Amino acid sequence: MPKLSVEERIHSFKEVALGYTEKQAIAEAKRCLQCKVPRCVEGCPVNIDIPAFIKFISEGRFEEAIKKVREKNSLPAICGRVCPQETQCMGRCVRGIKGTPINIGALERFVADWERRTGRIKTEVAPPTGRKVAVVGSGPAGLTAAAELAKLGHDVTIFEALHKPGGVLMYGIPEFRMPKDIVIDEINYVKSLGVKIETDIIIGKVITLNELFEMGFDAVFIGTGAGLPRFLGIPGENLCGIYSANEFLIRINLMKAYRFPEYDTPVKVGKRVAVIGGGNVAMDAARSALRLGGDVTVIYRRTELEMPARREEIENAKEEGVKFLFLATPVRFIGDDKGWVRAVECVRMRLGEPDETGRRRPIPIEGSEFKVEADTVVVAIGQRPNPIAVRGEKSIKLTSHGTIVVNPETYETTRRGVFAGGDIVTGNATVISAMGAAKKAAKAIHEYLMGGGDN
Ligand SMILES: Cc1cc2nc3c(=O)[nH]c(=O)nc-3n(C[C@H](O)[C@H](O)[C@H](O)COP(=O)(O)OP(=O)(O)OC[C@H]3O[C@@H](n4cnc5c(N)ncnc54)[C@H](O)[C@@H]3O)c2cc1C
Ligand code: SF4
Repeated sequence: MPKLSVEERIHSFKEVALGYTEKQAIAEAKRCLQCKVPRCVEGCPVNIDIPAFIKFISEGRFEEAIKKVREKNSLPAICGRVCPQETQCMGRCVRGIKGTPINIGALERFVADWERRTGRIKTEVAPPTGRKVAVVGSGPAGLTAAAELAKLGHDVTIFEALHKPGGVLMYGIPEFRMPKDIVIDEINYVKSLGVKIETDIIIGKVITLNELFEMGFDAVFIGTGAGLPRFLGIPGENLCGIYSANEFLIRINLMKAYRFPEYDTPVKVGKRVAVIGGGNVAMDAARSALRLGGDVTVIYRRTELEMPARREEIENAKEEGVKFLFLATPVRFIGDDKGWVRAVECVRMRLGEPDETGRRRPIPIEGSEFKVEADTVVVAIGQRPNPIAVRGEKSIKLTSHGTIVVNPETYETTRRGVFAGGDIVTGNATVISAMGAAKKAAKAIHEYLMGGGDN
């Protein structure tokens, strides 16, 4: 996949991956073996008929290719960009056993971008069923559930707490990985199916679940994600200059801090920035801070091998000049007399036996404390589910982690007529897993409604 030069990247928020040309896409598609038992499809949580859409590309039949993808995936321009294909479809491709797997994500992105350039292909929508569904949250789970239900003829309204729909795609993943005009385009596709979107409405505060049913909705899908930041819980974490990754990225992506003064909502990025964590969120925060002029060091308690971030994003971060400090973890933040952070005191770690995640457990080395100078710190160590939508709803059972308990087949919660999927059920995961769950939930909601389901 061709990429923007490093020089151009570090001074802008322009998209880094440039996408295939028609010629490159056809050449890549021609490498596909058209396996009779395609292992790639088994690796796709939404079961796209991968060999079929790749065959269409290899023949230059791009319209048929995008139609094939859209049969199973309502957000292909998004998935083609941010899905961890290397551990899903592409990770299973037989071409990868002895050589290079087919770049399925890049091909999916290619046909989605081709459709954007040449005009949207109309999707068939079933005649109205007269049943109404409320979808809470407009991230990948909410958008997918809404699209699937609208295609089946249901009257769907999405309620979103923020002023813009899109969830993490809009407020979390930066422009240089997920351009916002593409997210808006995919949202417009969902709207073109008849879905209505109401922003600035926090379900659980402005409208309760009971009130949604009183308003005439026959079923509810909850896709409220995992948007609550986790903190380290160490001394000094309240000093000025220390952000949660959520706040830092929301200021940059949703409030467009990188376009100050055109947008009057800046974010303060100091000379030396420390980002704590090793996942995609940490990489996004580090690369954003670098673009805003910081000298950035990622502090991670294990080694590069155990980092949960996508390899491609770690490589991009390194190319751009982000530094990495492995096998270290903060134990306290040190501030100046005005209350601003000045340094992170860390302790060195060693790796022990594998823990429940299969990764080797980091163990602190006693007496190995040292300081890293920093005037901005971004804590990116994970998110928790946001409980507001179901707070006080005794009929909806939660796990000890705050995620919603659902029937694993139907995604129905412990309250009849209320379904849930995405990060609010699994804890923070991936775009495609949220979409996969939402598709299954939509199917179950449809069966519930057509079976005469009454709450
Ligand atoms: C910075 C960052 C980078 C990431 N990078 C990747 C990546 O590269 N690849 C990947 O696959 N995954 C990535 N992820 C994870 C992925 O984005 C999530 O797994 C996915 O967005 C989950 O989708 P969702 O629809 O369940 O939740 P979200 O996307 O979190 O959407 C939930 C929506 O619900 C709204 N909401 C919450 N409470 C309420 C309420 N009470 N009423 C109304 N609305 C409400 C929220 O405002 C939000 O818009 C990343 C996550 C982050 C934070
Ligand atoms: S496994 Fe690879 S080669 Fe086989 S059909 Fe899928 S993409 Fe093509």
